[in-house]
Amino acid sequence: MKLNDKIYVAGHSGLVGSAIVRLLKKKGYTNIITRSSEELDLRDQRMVYDFFEQEHPTYVFLAAAKVGGIWANQTYPADFIFDNLAIQNNVIHASYKTGVEKLLFLGSSCIYPKNAPQPIQEDYLMTGFLEPTNDAYAIAKIAGIKMCQAYHRQYGCRFISAMPTNLYGQGDNYHLQNAHVLPALLRKFHEAKLNAEPSVTVWGTGKPRREFLHVDDAAMACYFLMQRYESPEIINIGSGIDHTIREMATIIKKITQYQGEIVFDESKPDGTPRKLLNVDKISALGWKPMIDLEEGLAFTYSNFEKNYFQYTTKRDRSNSSIIHV
Ligand code: GDP
Repeated sequence: MKLNDKIYVAGHSGLVGSAIVRLLKKKGYTNIITRSSEELDLRDQRMVYDFFEQEHPTYVFLAAAKVGGIWANQTYPADFIFDNLAIQNNVIHASYKTGVEKLLFLGSSCIYPKNAPQPIQEDYLMTGFLEPTNDAYAIAKIAGIKMCQAYHRQYGCRFISAMPTNLYGQGDNYHLQNAHVLPALLRKFHEAKLNAEPSVTVWGTGKPRREFLHVDDAAMACYFLMQRYESPEIINIGSGIDHTIREMATIIKKITQYQGEIVFDESKPDGTPRKLLNVDKISALGWKPMIDLEEGLAFTYSNFEKNYFQYTTKRDRSNSSIIHV
């Protein structure tokens, strides 16, 4: 990628897209194009085709998706499957039609079978049943992977797919119900501290294990893969380390300096028991994460505290809390 190449970051206001834009700007890229969802609804085929014909980007980071935590995925499966299929179909096909040089499609670790052996290798894809709480989202993402592979096979397109683990960091969604576990807990503990509440309720048993990666590391990995990875086979992006939800709640309690108790609500779903990615493939290429989990979380918490109003009230009101397109 040359510094003046035209690069389209789809989903630039979301967690990953915004981190990719920050990174590209820092590296001196001068021709980054973005569109807000008001300007360009990526679910609208006509609008997307017109946009690509007008702009002719050379590189595309496809980080636009409807994303959310376990509750949102369970509650809005139709939105998750429809919006994600529509976004992917439109962006991938328009990229082919307008001769995009290279595209990176972002998937998710939830594409793998619920009971996959751990750590999860890339070739475990489609070897077992999906976790039911997010199967609609996972099926959409699997379709996106297969689409990139099909366009590679039939048309020779350089469309690659990366599967990041659970990400956190600046620009996350802090909605109490729709968010993923780390931003939801950061907010719950913060508000419990401010309101001197006696306890914070954590969903599920606390036993599931999850792997976390700071979004700036994920953006570095995406940039690295755009430069260095050519295979249509999927590639994992992760830290290679996982923790129980109970451990994460304890770490967040410490970071937020909350003094009360942690209570587990076992009526809420646990989801997949464990989701740890095998990162041998990307490690062998020479990429590794740089940000330690506790440091990354402390930094994320200070950013959240500083921007509390923007992260909470605005999103809570706008009902845009689960769409990052
Ligand atoms: P998942 O990785 O697809 O299961 O998505 P999440 O990040 O939403 O949830 C991860 C785990 O954290 C699940 O076992 C949840 O039950 C648990 N969890 C505990 N408290 C919360 C919370 O306040 N919000 C969310 N989203 N998950 C929570």
